[in-house]
Amino acid sequence: MDRKVLSEPVAGSPTNPIPLPKSKKILESYYAGRRLESPLGGYLEVLGVREGDGGKGRVLLECNTSSLRFVLTVPKATRVEKTRVKEDIESGDDLFCPRHGSGQRLAKSGKDWVCALCGVSYGKS
Ligand SMILES: [Zn+2]
Repeated sequence: MDRKVLSEPVAGSPTNPIPLPKSKKILESYYAGRRLESPLGGYLEVLGVREGDGGKGRVLLECNTSSLRFVLTVPKATRVEKTRVKEDIESGDDLFCPRHGSGQRLAKSGKDWVCALCGVSYGKS
């Protein structure tokens, strides 16, 4: 296969954020609403949350000391989470993020119920 050599944007630039390592600790801090420490010292400020591929979420972050951009991948909903949200949809209850808790409502995005902080779809209706 022919591979064209493209000039890659610099790692950490707005179009090429550096992926944060897969870490339960980082995710737990994020779900708890704590500020994330930057790998370069200082803190990561949340710039925005996007819906990623296959139900995953993408949190775009900027280091407040280096101004480098990072991205945190939020794992897609588990079967247990989906089942619980489905039960709440069926019973007409208010829908909350299974990870962020009762302070964070799920919002409708197309057919999906998405957490605005996770970017993850937890259910459909
Ligand atoms: Zn959430």
